[in-house]
Amino acid sequence: MNKFINPLLWIILPLAAFFSVSCGSESSDDERPYVVTTTMMLEDVVNQIAGDFVRVDGLMGPGVDPHVYRATPGDFRALERADLILYNGHFLEARLSEILSQMPERTFAAAEQIDTELLIEAYEFGGNYDPHVWFDVSLWMQVTEAVGARLQELVPNHAEEIAANTTSYLDELRELDEWVRERLNEIPEGRRVLITAHDAFSYFGEAYGFDVMGLQGLSTQSEYGLRDVSQMVRFIIENEIPAIFLETSIAPRSVQSLINGVTERGGTVQLGGELYSDAMGARGTEEGTFTGMVRFNVNTITEALK
Ligand SMILES: [Zn+2]
Repeated sequence: MNKFINPLLWIILPLAAFFSVSCGSESSDDERPYVVTTTMMLEDVVNQIAGDFVRVDGLMGPGVDPHVYRATPGDFRALERADLILYNGHFLEARLSEILSQMPERTFAAAEQIDTELLIEAYEFGGNYDPHVWFDVSLWMQVTEAVGARLQELVPNHAEEIAANTTSYLDELRELDEWVRERLNEIPEGRRVLITAHDAFSYFGEAYGFDVMGLQGLSTQSEYGLRDVSQMVRFIIENEIPAIFLETSIAPRSVQSLINGVTERGGTVQLGGELYSDAMGARGTEEGTFTGMVRFNVNTITEALK
């Protein structure tokens, strides 16, 4: 029996392998337009308003820092195949800007669609404006609207559905914005100071009435020095700041050095928890969506400072 089967297997196995590989390239039988995004925030917008009509991949997953992110070989292949590439812009994806600038007809800088009068100027790093627009929900609504219009162009035969989805998602964001204001009202005026590892929350501060300070500046590419730490330590003690925060996409040591510095000088400051700043939570979880991420951050901030 064995003598008979063995030679046959020499033929069957390679054939089986060949068919399983050709059936495995699932992307070829998905006819929907292929959208690639840089950040998870943009990936979520696409999923919310056009998830049924396009295929979407986000290059930067949970915990990934966009300021220092470099494209992998897999990313290059995805960018090459993409029908549309959505990125934040304003130099957030500093190390991808060269590649992205090489394909102007397929790229769309979502945050660059916002009226620049509404943006915070930031000449001290690579771009002209602070790129962290997503924590002012009203600015993110503008981004959503712009992305919706671009996706309607990409998938004209489903433009009506995408327009309707965009409208109802914008309603959801408007409700979210109201909820953020109500929740943050639980924090007394004098305690509305948000100290984090880097300056990702300036728009949040502007929109919701917070003083915001980051140890590392606007881009995580910039270094912070001992002087920055001791100035911030003095500020925390003098203003009796109750809590400061970590960020999921940045190593905790800079914030830890602040806490140590305050303790050494006889002060006390709590670790308020970890905030999502430049990346969201795991895909498939509440914090892996934009609305869930904002709710998580606002709850964390409120609980620590109220
Ligand atoms: Zn940042």
